[in-house]
Amino acid sequence: MHKITLIPGDGIGPEISEAMRRVVESTGVEIEWEKVEAGADVMDKYGTPLPEYVLKSVRRNKVAIKGPVTTPVGKGFRSVNVALRKELDLYVCLRPVFSLEGVKTRFENIDLVIVRENTEDLYAGIERMIDKDTAESIKLITRGASERIAKFAFNYAVKEKRKKVTAVHKANIMKFSDGLFLETAKKIAENYPQIQFEDRIVDNMCMQLVQKPELYDILLCPNLYGDILSDLCAGLAGGLGIAPGANIGDECAVFEPVHGSAPKYAGQNKVNPTAIILSSVLMLKHIGEKEAAGKVFNATAAVIKEKKNVTYDLGGTAGTSEMADAIIKKIAG
Ligand code: NAD
Repeated sequence: MHKITLIPGDGIGPEISEAMRRVVESTGVEIEWEKVEAGADVMDKYGTPLPEYVLKSVRRNKVAIKGPVTTPVGKGFRSVNVALRKELDLYVCLRPVFSLEGVKTRFENIDLVIVRENTEDLYAGIERMIDKDTAESIKLITRGASERIAKFAFNYAVKEKRKKVTAVHKANIMKFSDGLFLETAKKIAENYPQIQFEDRIVDNMCMQLVQKPELYDILLCPNLYGDILSDLCAGLAGGLGIAPGANIGDECAVFEPVHGSAPKYAGQNKVNPTAIILSSVLMLKHIGEKEAAGKVFNATAAVIKEKKNVTYDLGGTAGTSEMADAIIKKIAG
């Protein structure tokens, strides 16, 4: 029996989380879900959108899966997602991007993985108003964080039998911060002669990705570029509705879709549950349930390929729960 923390989130979070839970349970893997709430809804009661009991639950269970949580723009509390990553030192944001048959895209042979540093860069939250007309944000890059994310990328390449790591940066302009990130990646690469290493300046990387994404394998990115490239790549491979992700540290891992809480669709049983269901595939692999992971992936891919029971973003008319039902039916055989 696995014990897993489930953070449903808000907006469309609860409905996609429920779809994912039903799909995972249909594989027969025994999971006790510890459901905990975070975000705006608990703010009034606990004075924080990320109460201590959420962190305690993830620390205890070591594995969590979460729906998206809304972050107020420009004011209000800081992002629960960023805080969770920082508090639990989930320094890796892993986002596989791949083509699925049945999803209309410009490219058919994308198979790349974004390995994004998750704890520093402009997301360190070091910003202030210098005076009423001037704001300052500090871009923090350390050798230690750059080293551990580069090591993760190369170890992942070896484990998953991938061939190439491309470091993404803007070291021509930010010579110290991005320069340190690049220099560190180059040094770590020397320990992995079997994996090809190259680097790209982030603006050129964007152009390369929209022209020939099939040339890329693992993209090793500082936090901000990784965030932006994740959405760009999700768009290349068929949209946010199908893009899974994971946040991984040495102690704990939190799995979540790339997309946000899409408030305008909340409670309508309309959005695509695939991104969180594919995040659960990453989670099942992580806890050693490889067979169940394979079943969920294959069933989801089959439903998408058939195009009969898919949501609006994939050209269908099924609701969130109907698409989950179709996946469960496939798993049952
Ligand atoms: P979003 O990803 O929530 O939505 C953007 C658009 O993408 C939606 O309007 C919808 O058209 C489409 N979309 C997203 N998910 C979909 C799905 N599952 N199926 C079909 N279509 C889908 O991005 P946003 O509007 O920029 O952000 C909304 C809120 O979510 C913000 O408060 C933001 O901070 C938060 N957010 C949270 C997370 C997280 O919890 N990890 C991640 C990103 C954004």
